[in-house]
Amino acid sequence: MQKEIELAITPEYINDQEHILQQGTNKLKLDISRVKGFKIRKRSIDARGRQVLYRIRIIFFIDENPAPTVFKKNFKSVEKAPRVIIIGAGPAGLFAAYRCLERGLRPIVIERGKSVQERRRDLAKINREGVVNPESNYCFGEGGAGTYSDGKLYTRADKRGNVQKVLEVFVEYGATEDILVDARPHIGTNKLPHIIEDMRLSIIEHGGEVHFDTRVDDILVQSDKVVGVKTSTGDVLEASNIIVATGHSARDVFDLFKRNNWLLEAKPFALGVRIEHPQAIIDQAQYHCDIRHDNLPPAYYNLVEQVDNRGVFSFCMCPGGIIAPCATHHDEIVVNGWSPSKRNNPHANSGTVIQINLEDVPESLTNAYALLDFQRAVEQKAYQLGGGSLVAPAQRMVDFVNNKTSTTLPENSYKPGTMSVDLVEVLPDFVYQSLKGALPLFGKKMKGYYTNEAILVGVESRTSSPIRIPRDKETYQHPQVKGLFPCGEGAGYAGGIVSAAIDGMNCVDAIKIY
Ligand SMILES: Cc1cc2nc3c(=O)[nH]c(=O)nc-3n(C[C@H](O)[C@H](O)[C@H](O)COP(=O)(O)OP(=O)(O)OC[C@H]3O[C@@H](n4cnc5c(N)ncnc54)[C@H](O)[C@@H]3O)c2cc1C
Repeated sequence: MQKEIELAITPEYINDQEHILQQGTNKLKLDISRVKGFKIRKRSIDARGRQVLYRIRIIFFIDENPAPTVFKKNFKSVEKAPRVIIIGAGPAGLFAAYRCLERGLRPIVIERGKSVQERRRDLAKINREGVVNPESNYCFGEGGAGTYSDGKLYTRADKRGNVQKVLEVFVEYGATEDILVDARPHIGTNKLPHIIEDMRLSIIEHGGEVHFDTRVDDILVQSDKVVGVKTSTGDVLEASNIIVATGHSARDVFDLFKRNNWLLEAKPFALGVRIEHPQAIIDQAQYHCDIRHDNLPPAYYNLVEQVDNRGVFSFCMCPGGIIAPCATHHDEIVVNGWSPSKRNNPHANSGTVIQINLEDVPESLTNAYALLDFQRAVEQKAYQLGGGSLVAPAQRMVDFVNNKTSTTLPENSYKPGTMSVDLVEVLPDFVYQSLKGALPLFGKKMKGYYTNEAILVGVESRTSSPIRIPRDKETYQHPQVKGLFPCGEGAGYAGGIVSAAIDGMNCVDAIKIY
């Protein structure tokens, strides 16, 4: 027999199995000898009251032993199966490849960047020398933009597909089972590369192919139907189904569509800055304490405000994280954030952005590129005002709101360096005004947030794609090209690791093999 109950446990006891067993048997009014085991099914932190609590949903196995959960799957070889070309080895591409194995299709993954191991060297160059390799960086390479991230896996994408399955696949390839239990699961930059690498090895082991350092430069079509791709290595690879999972930063892929006269649309995206605080300030505010308990993770926040009918919101918050230089070209600044699995760095960072709508850039109503051009112009301005070598323009928070130049900048985690710049010079005026209005209001919601100890680093601009590649709702194919599946974040159908993974699997499910 199994019984599921909820328990509230104080942080000092959360790792104490005896205590949890005792609490559970008390609640169930059970003789402890009848309990053969227990399993936590959900775990969240409740910091609403003065006493911070873990709330756990827990299954007790009474008079029966818990069965071990097996996540490893065996696939038949797909070596001789119909081929599916998948452009891009980000979460959308890799999960599309995984789904191909499940469906008995042969995934041929083509990735412009390098394998996770080799990619590390290019990231070191970005951080140490401020030099971007346009083919291998924080956005391009094995695992895509998600590899060197915080690996946050919570999502509101439940309606798009099976979130649980994505988490289980991550566990199958080495993530801890905690991600199946935590209300806010995350994997961490130190662990993601190994998981991604194991996924790739499994694709190859079962008869798929993965090509690195190979950019798709054209998609070949005959009679409105895809027949293959042409790559930067001079090869032509054939397939009658092609998934385009190239992410939001592959601007040359949008050009490829434009060259072929295939439809593209402008799409709203969000723009702003990355804000970093000392983690201790966030811990004190969220956990109502001077020093965070060792058994509590570095605290998180999620803030939203309306300023003049515009939403300003925190985005991709990284407790104990690092601000990452995520440009894909040498003349632009783009920031984002990552954290290791323990989130044990001294700073907390978060994107703080506003939505850029088509009406904000009226040209976008007729020109699919208008928002991308707008995005690029802000990124280039940030580069110029930062002074080059990926040094980012930055300002203290209260100075930003008071439009005052920061005479010094606080110590921060952005490795290529920061330069004091009035960010009003970098950001479009309506973005500046919205942020300026929102930050003091955030400070009213969260004690300590509005402080000159916090730094704003520009610019957070690759929150999602400013262009959508249209596709049919039923067939998932581009309306003008049969067999062509726009997929993931770059095409405008995902916003984050899990939703991109789901979209990859959905695209494969839409493939019809006759
Ligand atoms: C630093 C950072 C931290 C992030 N943190 C999180 C997080 O914690 N949680 C979360 O949910 N999301 C996070 N994100 C966002 C997340 O990474 C993306 O939403 C997700 O990776 C999108 O998946 P995708 O597969 O659609 O595209 P991408 O991951 O962008 O992958 C696209 C791939 O296509 C390849 N490609 C592009 N053009 C070509 C071509 N012509 N030929 C061959 N290959 C090509 C690229 O090299 C890339 O590898 C973060 C992003 C960054 C940059």
